[in-house]
Amino acid sequence: MGYWKDIVLGGWSLIEGMKVTGRALFKPVVTVQYPRRHLEMSPAYRGHIELKVFPETGTHGCIACGTCQRVCPSHVIKVQGVKAHARSGKIATHYVIDYTRCSLCGLCVESCPTQTLKFSTEYELASDSRWDGVVDLVLRMEESRS
Ligand code: SF4
Ligand code: SF4
Repeated sequence: MGYWKDIVLGGWSLIEGMKVTGRALFKPVVTVQYPRRHLEMSPAYRGHIELKVFPETGTHGCIACGTCQRVCPSHVIKVQGVKAHARSGKIATHYVIDYTRCSLCGLCVESCPTQTLKFSTEYELASDSRWDGVVDLVLRMEESRS
């Protein structure tokens, strides 16, 4: 009797399993074949901090005021700027940030008076050196344009 019961239970379990497989077969695909295919990230995605380039000026709007540097709870930002001439405002020449210690809290983005900081949508920042995470955003922006 135990033998027939095991066969019936095994058969029933197989049917249940095939029902799950059948349902999954006709559902829309929600995963992608990464890295062969890349994801289109949502604008709400919080990738590392980046400088915005404004189309009107063709460059960032960082005035090296230091606000983001002061509010950053992780102390990972260092900004340097120069004045083109005595009566002009400053413009950032170096914006160094350590991504490896940034918690992506967003305080720098929120506090920037010129709204020149944003979260990127990049998600492939793996590296085998800790120092690759220390980036000068102004230099990187200039390199990407040349
Ligand atoms: S997101 Fe937060 S931790 Fe990262 S640099 Fe900005 S203020 Fe600092
Ligand atoms: S990114 Fe914004 S808050 Fe930070 S130094 Fe530049 S202008 Fe000031």
